[in-house]
Amino acid sequence: MSEPVTSTRCLFCSLMCPLALARDPSGSTEEMTADYIAADPVTEGRLCFRGHMIPEMATHPLRLTNAELCAPGQTQRKTPVSVHEALEAAASRLMEAGERAAVLVDGNLPTEDIASAMQLARDALKTTRVAVYLPDTDAAMCRGMNPETPFVAAAEIAGSDVVFIIGDAFTTHPVISKALLEARAARKLRIVACDCIPNHVAPFAEKFVLTKPDGAAALLAAVCKQLGCEPGGDWAAGRSAAELAEMAGASEADVKALADAISGAKSPAMILAPVPGRMSNVSAAAAAASSLCIAKGGRLMPLFRYGNAVGAVAAMGTSQPWQDCIQAVRDRKVDTLLTLGVDVLRLVPTKEIASLRRRLQTLIVASPMRDRSAAYADILLPMAATFETGGTVQAADGNCVEIGAAMSPPGGALPVRDLCAGLASAMGRHLSAESQAENAAPCQGQPDAPEEPVAFPETGLQLIARSNVPDFDTGTLSRLMAWPAFAEPMPELHMNASDVKKRGLAPRGRAVLRANGHEAFVRLRVDADVPEGMAAVSTAFEETRPLFRERRVDGVGVELCWSEADVMAETDT
Ligand code: SF4
Repeated sequence: MSEPVTSTRCLFCSLMCPLALARDPSGSTEEMTADYIAADPVTEGRLCFRGHMIPEMATHPLRLTNAELCAPGQTQRKTPVSVHEALEAAASRLMEAGERAAVLVDGNLPTEDIASAMQLARDALKTTRVAVYLPDTDAAMCRGMNPETPFVAAAEIAGSDVVFIIGDAFTTHPVISKALLEARAARKLRIVACDCIPNHVAPFAEKFVLTKPDGAAALLAAVCKQLGCEPGGDWAAGRSAAELAEMAGASEADVKALADAISGAKSPAMILAPVPGRMSNVSAAAAAASSLCIAKGGRLMPLFRYGNAVGAVAAMGTSQPWQDCIQAVRDRKVDTLLTLGVDVLRLVPTKEIASLRRRLQTLIVASPMRDRSAAYADILLPMAATFETGGTVQAADGNCVEIGAAMSPPGGALPVRDLCAGLASAMGRHLSAESQAENAAPCQGQPDAPEEPVAFPETGLQLIARSNVPDFDTGTLSRLMAWPAFAEPMPELHMNASDVKKRGLAPRGRAVLRANGHEAFVRLRVDADVPEGMAAVSTAFEETRPLFRERRVDGVGVELCWSEADVMAETDT
């Protein structure tokens, strides 16, 4: 039996479920479990799979607990040193690099940690090369939403009479599906939904609209027009509801059914749950969803992948997109990189790791785990996880939430704010007092115009992303955790039986998937939910992300979009 320690919150999505961590009280093992907070009105003591990864992280065999240092060019032979020595060495390399140095910090840290990294770069290092890693859908939702948008919290969503779900919220957020399905059974809550393939919401929706990939923004804009409100941004101004419906791949009857459901509701709510590589044009979709909520008395629940996405957007200001930071290394403008909680070598295709590493004279990695970047680092700094440090984060509505620390960090691991202060001090500089997070609305109301529809491939397959329970599109964490690695050790490509047969592929065989000038080895899965002419693969693998087209979006970075693909048996290649 285990005993609860103290409570914290899970930051693996914007629901920020409360949880307690428990340790084996006998002290005989390092076993940790997530303990349920049964009184919580949202989770009622249940966490989703991602929440259960937190105890695994706490005692993971790959936890980084001490600093290490290696001689230049000798990343395989690291020597344990004190954190102080490692900070001194890192500060010296960063100062030596000057403008050739860059800082990349994870956006799912408490706001004071992100702010410390920004201060370190700008005030101590005097560089503008600082970036915050944030999932593209999170940045795009913040960018598109209207500042007047009313939000609905997880505890209140089941009180709505109609919920319009855009994307696959049931696969990625079982806490929400449980609340909605119970309310649906008890009080006839109505669910309407859309996605580009029949998803896990579809069987429970009284109206499910199948769109083209990336068609959600146009569909929402069409519903806005049908209800007499503008979807936000100029792109839809001259288009009718019928034209927008066609752009979305939906019918006018579909648009009317969704519009009728919203206009007939007393307290409608919308859930925006975009999957990268399946729903781009996210800022336009967020703007249209905001407009609908404002015009029709509804409330919006944007499901961010990062619990502190809103705080990260506020703290990052106008800093460069994280992709530009990596591009500067490719372009040899940066040769010294400090990463704080970002497994940067998981963000690039596997075949690019060696060349990217060669371009870096010094890679300084602060991480809670011995991740891929740690293996290639010159200097390793042990970083505490948020459930060990606590701090301030911002909820989707912009309000600050103080989260507690459930335990102390192991060994010499330090919060990012302390690592940044230590680096600044070793540079003879001083960071100003911790910036206090202030309530700040996430909305910017600056939607980007959606991509115009691209012709459906005549011969190939339309490749979209598959939504999956871990819901980490970079694989930064999920590849290190036991359950997702066992559940999907290699990428699985889901295809309709007729497409598998047409290509002479073995239904459960291995195959090569080619798209966007890249290829990846995949295992085939026959899936009746995937329409003919389409194929779906997870983006949680560094080898599958380059298969998707990238679309540059102002203020966001890039969005992953569907691409044209072909599949062949492994033996044919
Ligand atoms: S629903 Fe979100 S906050 Fe809750 S346990 Fe899952 S990932 Fe964590």
